[in-house]
Amino acid sequence: MPKVISRSTVASSTDAQPTASSTAALRVYYCICGEFILVIDKVLSALPRRRTDNAIIVRAHDSEAGKARVFKLNAVAGDPLVIERQSGGHERQFRLDCPRCTLPVAYQPTPGPVKSSEYLYILPGALTQMQGQIPSDAFDGEVTTA
Ligand SMILES: [Zn+2]
Repeated sequence: MPKVISRSTVASSTDAQPTASSTAALRVYYCICGEFILVIDKVLSALPRRRTDNAIIVRAHDSEAGKARVFKLNAVAGDPLVIERQSGGHERQFRLDCPRCTLPVAYQPTPGPVKSSEYLYILPGALTQMQGQIPSDAFDGEVTTA
């Protein structure tokens, strides 16, 4: 059994205090190295995914299309990437890395702090709810899906 360490990291955060009602439903996600990365008000598996790269879409701001998720991401800014899409377009991604092992865990379409963009994208297979376990979708990209 993996050892689950206390959630004091989450509880001690001072910004973005969740309300009492949302606290009960908050989910905690870890990098595969065991570092705490994300606390969010919904399971990631229930969130929509991008068709281009299967990244999990986290809405960071309210709009007419939907309400923003309540979340807090523990990550540091990584290298910006330019991705070439099959449609011929280009997309800039500003990576957010795990502060401990520096693996990329998420990205935003614009530079700046977390939540500066309308959406945050979580890389598929990057996070797990069980500290010390590899997420079940970590190798999804290597399997051809119909
Ligand atoms: Zn890590």
